[in-house]
Amino acid sequence: MQKTGLKIPIQYLKGVGPKKALLLKKLGIHTVYDAIYHLPNHYEDRRNKKFIYEIVAGDFVNINGKIVQINEIIPRNGLKILEVVVSDGTGFLKAKWFNQSYLKKILKPKTEIKLFGKIQLDFRGNAFEILNPEFEIIDQNTFEEKIEILPVYRLTEGLSQKQIRNIIKSALEYSKVYLEDYIPEQVIKKLKLPSLSEAILNVHFPPSDIEVKALNESTTPYHKRIIFDELFLLQLGIILIKNSRLNERGISICGSGKLIKDFISNLPFKLTKAQERVIGEILGDMKKPTPMNRLLQGDVGCGKTVVALVAMLAAVEAGYQAALMAPTEILAEQHFYNIVSLLKNLKVNVIIHTSEYDKYANLISSGDANIVIGTHALIQEYVKFKNLGLVIIDEQHRFGVMQRYLLKKKGFNPDTLVMTATPIPRTLALTVYGDLDYSIIDELPSGRKPIITQIIDKNSKKIAYKMIEDEIKNGGQVYVVYPLIEESENLDLFNATKGYEVLQKMFPNYPVGLIHGKLPSKQRDEIMKSFRRGDIKILVATTVIEVGVDVPNASLMIITNAERFGLAQLHQLRGRVGRGMRPSKCVLIPYNLTKEAELRLKAMVIFNDGFKIAEEDLNIRGPGELFGTKQSGMPDLKSANIIRDKDLLEIARKEAELILGKDPYLKGFPPLKAKLEEFWKNKIDNFTVA
Ligand code: ADP
Ligand code: MG
Repeated sequence: MQKTGLKIPIQYLKGVGPKKALLLKKLGIHTVYDAIYHLPNHYEDRRNKKFIYEIVAGDFVNINGKIVQINEIIPRNGLKILEVVVSDGTGFLKAKWFNQSYLKKILKPKTEIKLFGKIQLDFRGNAFEILNPEFEIIDQNTFEEKIEILPVYRLTEGLSQKQIRNIIKSALEYSKVYLEDYIPEQVIKKLKLPSLSEAILNVHFPPSDIEVKALNESTTPYHKRIIFDELFLLQLGIILIKNSRLNERGISICGSGKLIKDFISNLPFKLTKAQERVIGEILGDMKKPTPMNRLLQGDVGCGKTVVALVAMLAAVEAGYQAALMAPTEILAEQHFYNIVSLLKNLKVNVIIHTSEYDKYANLISSGDANIVIGTHALIQEYVKFKNLGLVIIDEQHRFGVMQRYLLKKKGFNPDTLVMTATPIPRTLALTVYGDLDYSIIDELPSGRKPIITQIIDKNSKKIAYKMIEDEIKNGGQVYVVYPLIEESENLDLFNATKGYEVLQKMFPNYPVGLIHGKLPSKQRDEIMKSFRRGDIKILVATTVIEVGVDVPNASLMIITNAERFGLAQLHQLRGRVGRGMRPSKCVLIPYNLTKEAELRLKAMVIFNDGFKIAEEDLNIRGPGELFGTKQSGMPDLKSANIIRDKDLLEIARKEAELILGKDPYLKGFPPLKAKLEEFWKNKIDNFTVA
C-alpha cells in the first residue's frame, strides 16, 4: 500500500499517535483517507440558543447557565448518575451524566457552563432534563460565543466528539493538496455539483447559513456530491462487468424441445403465465453463444423449482449436465426427491451430492449423472463435471459471490441462473443485481388462498393448541417453529426440544416430529419424509425449515418467540404453508415485544405479498442489512443509501451509461479509471477496466 498522500496511516497525522490510532481503527479509520470519509452521523445546531423558559421537549438547544446544585445518585442497578441543576435566571434545567464520575472534578457549584443537547421531559413528566449533554465551561476567555453547526460522529469508547472533530479537522487540512477530482468535469458541470474538496470540507464543517434539516437528511449539495460519487462508481463497475460478459464465449444450448414438452405435459398442474414467460426468457438466453447470467426473482411459493427444472432439461437434451446448488441439506434433499418424482417417466439421471451423500461423485465426472442436486459440497475440489452446461443457484442470497463463482468454474462458461425469493424493488434490483439480466415471476399459481396471519399473546397459548387440534382434525398438518435448539439459561425461551416434549404430551394421539440442524441427515431425512407422507402431524422445527421446504398439505404455522425473527425470515417461514389447496394460517407468538418487533409482526398480519413485506422491511430498518455487501458482492457504500438516494442512483446510472457509451474503457479519464479499480478492488476477481 502507498504510504504517502491520503493513504498515509492515520497514526502519523498531527495530533493522533499510536494510542488514538488504535481507537480510530475500531471505527474503520486506518488512513487519512478513511478519516475524511468518516462522515458525520448527524449535525448539532448550536445556533439554536435559548433561555430555559423557552425550551420544549424535543429541542436541540444551546443553553448558558450557572450550576446551582450537584448531586451524585447511585441507584441500585450500579449506574452512577451525576445530576447537575443549571439556572440562567429564567428557569432551572436538570442535566444528567451517566457513569462519568470524573465530571465531579470539573463541574463545581457556581461554574458557568454551556450545554448542548436534546431536551426531554423527566420520568415524572413535569420537569425538563437533558441527558449526557455536551458542555463547555465558560471562563474569562469565552467572551464571544461561537455560533456554529457541529458535526456529530460515530464514536468508540475512549474517544470524544471533541477529539474526533480535531482529528478530522487535521486530516482535512493535511489532505488539501492530495484530493484529486476524478469525476469528469462535464458530469460535475452538468449536474451542478461542487468540487470534491469543497464537498468534503463542507460535509464535515458546514457553513453556518445552511439548513440543518438538509444536513441531517444528507440533501445538501455537498452530501449529494459525495453520494453521487459512490453511486457513479458503483454503476460504472456494474455496467463494465455486464459489458465484459458480452464478449465472453459460452455454449449455445439448443435441443429439439421434446424432453421439455413431455415434461410439461406430464405436470400435475398447468404452468402460470408468469412461469411460461420466464421459461421463454431463460431458454432464449441459453440458446445464445454468450453465457446466460440471469436472476430469477419470485415470491415464496410462486413455483421457481419447475422453471429451474425446465432449464435443466434443456441442458440435458442438448447433451450437457446441469447442477442445482441449494443452501441447506434439507432443501437439497427435498429438491432431489421432488425432481426425481417429477421426472419419473423421463430418461434423465438425477443424483444428489451433499456432504452427507457423496458416494456418486464418479457419476458426475463420467457424465452419467445428467442432473446433479447438491449443497456447497458441489464446489469441493474433487467434484469434477464432464460437461457442465448449466448452473442454478437456489436461494442465492444464502451464498457468497465466491461460492457461485467456484461452481461456475466447474464448467466452461456455463449458463447461470440464480434464484431468490427475497423480493426487492426494481431500482434496487438494477443495482444490487445490476450485472445480471432479470426475470420475475409475479404471479402465484391459481387457487392459492391468502395465508391468514394473527398474533396471539403468549399467555393465550390455549388458543394456539386448539387451532392445532382443529387443523389436524380437518386433515391438515402443522409446523411449530422455535428460534433456538438448546436451552439457554439467560433467555426465557422455550426451545424446540422442550416444545417438542410439551406438544407430545398435549397431543398424545398425533405423531409429533422434531427437526433441527444438529440431527444426522439420515434421521432428518426420515422425519421429513414422514412429514411429507402425512404420518407426522406436528413438526417441531428450528429455522432449518426456513427456506424452500415444500409440503403442500401443511396448513398451519406457529412461530414462537416471533419477535426474534426478521421480517424477511418470518415471510420465508410463513411461506412453508399456503402451498397447496388448503386455506392456511400463521400464528405469531411474541414473548418480548419491542417497538420495532411490533411493527414487523403487524406488517406480517397486514401483508401477504413479499414485495410489500420487503418494502416494509426497508422502512423499518433501512436497506443496510438487507443488501449487505457480503451477500450481493457489491462494494461497500459508505455514504449512499440506495433507498433514500434512489433518484440520484438513476442519474448515476444514466451518466455511467453515457460515458461508457462514448468511451467504453475510460481511456480519456485516467483518474476516474484508477479510482474505479480501487473502488471495486477485492470485490470482483481482477477487476480491471480494460
Ligand atoms: P418456490 O418458488 O418458493 O421455490 P416451489 O417451486 O417450491 O416454490 O413451488 C411451490 C409449490 O407450488 C410446489 O408444491 C409446486 O409443485 C407448486 N407449483 C409450482 N407451479 C405450480 C403451478 N403452475 N400450479 C400449481 N402449483 C404449482
Ligand atoms: Mg424454492
